[in-house]
Amino acid sequence: MEFLFLGTSAGVPTRTRNVTAILLHHQHPTQPALWLFDCGEGTQHQMLSTAYHPGKIERIFISHLHGDHLFGLPGLLCSRSMAGNAHPLTLYGPKGLREFTETALRLSGSWTDYPLEIVEITAGDILDDELRKVTAYPLEHPLECYGYRVEEHDKPGALNARALKAAGVKAGPWFQDLKAGKTVTLEDGSVIRGADFLAPAIPGKAVAIFGDTAPCASAFELAKGVDVMIHETTLDASMEEKANSRGHSSTRQAALLAREAAVGRLIITHVSSRYDGAGCQRLLAECQAIFPATELADDFAVFTV
Ligand SMILES: [Zn+2]
Ligand SMILES: [Zn+2]
Repeated sequence: MEFLFLGTSAGVPTRTRNVTAILLHHQHPTQPALWLFDCGEGTQHQMLSTAYHPGKIERIFISHLHGDHLFGLPGLLCSRSMAGNAHPLTLYGPKGLREFTETALRLSGSWTDYPLEIVEITAGDILDDELRKVTAYPLEHPLECYGYRVEEHDKPGALNARALKAAGVKAGPWFQDLKAGKTVTLEDGSVIRGADFLAPAIPGKAVAIFGDTAPCASAFELAKGVDVMIHETTLDASMEEKANSRGHSSTRQAALLAREAAVGRLIITHVSSRYDGAGCQRLLAECQAIFPATELADDFAVFTV
């Protein structure tokens, strides 16, 4: 998996940071996928500076309906259509996402030339295909808000062809079933268990992508043991009370959660426009003092998981 941050500012854009949007590229050899998390104003403009095109996005997950996470959506949906794109798109987000989207399209005389599905979610499993699973967790914010946990399913280990040969099993169409861990009966009647010839499964990666939130009960479950946790740090530790009163977290609180949930890496984003470059480095240092494996996302930063 690879994350590309298209916007990392909270509330309003600055000269160096646009409002929230994160691309997630699943770099699967045969079934790659491009997903977007949040779509603040100007997201499509930010994409113009990358190698990615909105037409390639298959799913968009909206954490909540605040404008800095949403106002880029109608424009992106329309541009995706004008480019003559026919690939289906599915939107996920809290109740109200359908009304917002359909109203914006209808009142502006717009439409999409591709199948557009809108899924208004509640907490729980929202997607599970053969490769990956997405679960939504409720967060603490003035508007209904969700964080998304994305987990790749474990990949089966490699089939030990040499051991099969030593056991007298010739290469054949049954190899595919053995590779999937199934038991097969060969022409001579012998029964071979695929599981006996497989290397241990390769664990899938897990990531947690938070929306805006004050510290809350479900945050730990969302983040528990993930390889990468992406969390907002709207304000510094000295302004914690103010952050929490508006449904946000401080640097200190994000880092404490990362430590408690034993995540691999913490990536911080959604920083207040009050911080300049030096201010952002201070936010990063405050996190690293508690959780050393913290990195700060700038616009167009790429992180490979
Ligand atoms: Zn926000
Ligand atoms: Zn918000």
